[in-house]
Amino acid sequence: MTRLPFLSAALLLAACASPAPVKIHYPPAETPDASVGAAPVGAVAEQGPFAPNAYLRACYGIRVSNSPIVDKDGWVVNYKPIVVVNGIPLAAAPANDVCLTSGFGQRFGRRHDGIDLQSRPAGTIYASAPGKIIESRVSTGYGNMVLIDHGKGVYTRYAHLAYIQPGVTKGATIGFGQPVGFMGASGNATAIHIHFEILTGDYRNPRGSKGLMPRDPFSFPPYEYAQAY
Ligand SMILES: [Zn+2]
Repeated sequence: MTRLPFLSAALLLAACASPAPVKIHYPPAETPDASVGAAPVGAVAEQGPFAPNAYLRACYGIRVSNSPIVDKDGWVVNYKPIVVVNGIPLAAAPANDVCLTSGFGQRFGRRHDGIDLQSRPAGTIYASAPGKIIESRVSTGYGNMVLIDHGKGVYTRYAHLAYIQPGVTKGATIGFGQPVGFMGASGNATAIHIHFEILTGDYRNPRGSKGLMPRDPFSFPPYEYAQAY
């Protein structure tokens, strides 16, 4: 029953957008942005093929570490397909038909800065919101990794990619739902999955992305129809 409000929100979005289930109206490129950080929200490339799932469940057959609250059937109670972070609508899970293998927070004595999602077969990983690519590289831990600046102090990270999508290079802009790469197990990963982070703060600090604050993707308010129109 707790999932019903999100279902109605998703249906409402679906009703006004065809064929993509979720169409998000971002500010036009001309919109000035005087907030923290650069203003890449203006980088509104065309929406890609991504269609966020209305629900998210814990994966079958594995023990989900630091799992968020799930209902008796394994559905993540607090999952909202589109959340709003500092006014930026953002997909909370950047791939289709994924399930959750690990939640955000303390895990094995260390902080897990994001969530882990997988699909079988593995699939394309998409940009959670429009933005500017500020990192696109190979990292020892994250493997093939992309970091996107969405403006207003909001960033997302996509890690362990099998490969980074051609054209997804530092300085390039990307639209909501455009491919950033393909799910993989590069870097420090024991299985094929996507490690996804939502970060807030100001990247222009001495520690770069390490100076940003990792946030629980399930902790934000849902995108509401009324907020966008
Ligand atoms: Zn992870």
